[in-house]
Amino acid sequence: MLPFPTTVMLTDIEKDKNYVWAAYARLITGALAKVKAEGAKLGGDIAVRYDNERLIATMEFEQLNKPLPAMDPQRGQALVARAKGLPKVVVALNKLMGWVPPLAGDEYLRGLIDQIESKVVVAVEKQEPLAQQSLQICFGDKAAAAVPRFRQILTQLQALYARTDDKGKGLVHGPALPATMGALAHGTGDHAHVDLGTNLINGLLDRFEAAASLFHEASHTLPADSTVDFAYRNKDAHYLLPPGLAFLNAASYEQVVLDLLNGKLASDEKKVAALRHGAGTVQQAHALLASRVTRAWVRAYDLHGVALKGGLTPDMLAGLPPMPQGDTYKDLLTQLVLAFQEQMNTLMQTVSSRVTIVGTTETDKLDIKSTPQESVLYVPYSWAGDRPTNEVSVELLRFLADKIWPQDGDSVFSGSQLSGYVASIHLTDRPELQTMLQEFYSGVQRKPKID
Ligand SMILES: [Zn+2]
Repeated sequence: MLPFPTTVMLTDIEKDKNYVWAAYARLITGALAKVKAEGAKLGGDIAVRYDNERLIATMEFEQLNKPLPAMDPQRGQALVARAKGLPKVVVALNKLMGWVPPLAGDEYLRGLIDQIESKVVVAVEKQEPLAQQSLQICFGDKAAAAVPRFRQILTQLQALYARTDDKGKGLVHGPALPATMGALAHGTGDHAHVDLGTNLINGLLDRFEAAASLFHEASHTLPADSTVDFAYRNKDAHYLLPPGLAFLNAASYEQVVLDLLNGKLASDEKKVAALRHGAGTVQQAHALLASRVTRAWVRAYDLHGVALKGGLTPDMLAGLPPMPQGDTYKDLLTQLVLAFQEQMNTLMQTVSSRVTIVGTTETDKLDIKSTPQESVLYVPYSWAGDRPTNEVSVELLRFLADKIWPQDGDSVFSGSQLSGYVASIHLTDRPELQTMLQEFYSGVQRKPKID
């Protein structure tokens, strides 16, 4: 972190005194090299945004650091420009190094919320054509019932923003959120708060994805009929939900937000119909698999906070081998939970972005072919037989996790332990939720033959 320049320092820079600029120039040069190295380790979308921000900061710094003109008034103007430009460069670099600005009154977040209102909520209320189409695809015959919920969720989000105090109320920085997780809600109604990831706050996530993520989390905090996570957007699992469950599913609202911000539907009716009616069983199984893993991944993140408070109970760790209980073992257990989280992160990234699942007639055994970047999992038609999609998805999960962490390997948890946890995650839900989830899983219909 670079120190933020004080008024005295800025005046020194303007008067070219005390080598203040030279000291900053050295520190900034070092910080730029450091963030360049950090950026090279990132992957995907975040890497692109990170690098873009770094380049902007680099150019601004180089502009300010140009040799000073010999004569006034140009010399004086260049010094004033340095003093004026320095705080901006320091803020930009510190953000890249993980510092976050105070959230109360934050303009970036305010802008996202305003955009949700003008581009999404108003369009939904006015029943504009794209809004109608998006609602129809996401909510089916519950589309009309879902309309007023958009204003309710927005109001909830505005209230969260309004009570943000940088002391734990409203929108809160969650430094431990994984890089790919934008935000995470806790509680409902007036006492709810939402953790925001560093990248979301610092504008390193796609702007529309960030807005949709805020809306998703705010929907969990509704005082009545708050949403849950039956299915996520990963692999389009949310399109598989029957309307009654979509009405209560956070990602279904998130999808409408994204469609309207992007100005186009993410998936057309034909593709969604094909997914729903079993034209691609492998696709359905992948969608169910991704959704289950995402639920478990979110839960694994929560476990860490619970472990720190010493409140972990055996049923929260269902599917995992027995672990020491009680305050004496808090640190030991916390480390185990952290290791577990890391493996869940890998599993999550694998199923949602690194693996492609393909149906085949060539073999009759499951087979995986991997490069360091991606894997293709071959699912023979004969292997899947006429088993329900849900069963196929659980089997694929076991197979994948075993491949990543073999039984006799040297990982903290084995693949079968991880898949055991994921497959039994619904058992820790409220009973009525468990019933609905089971209905959803078993209701996914497919043709008897994979195509
Ligand atoms: Zn959620």
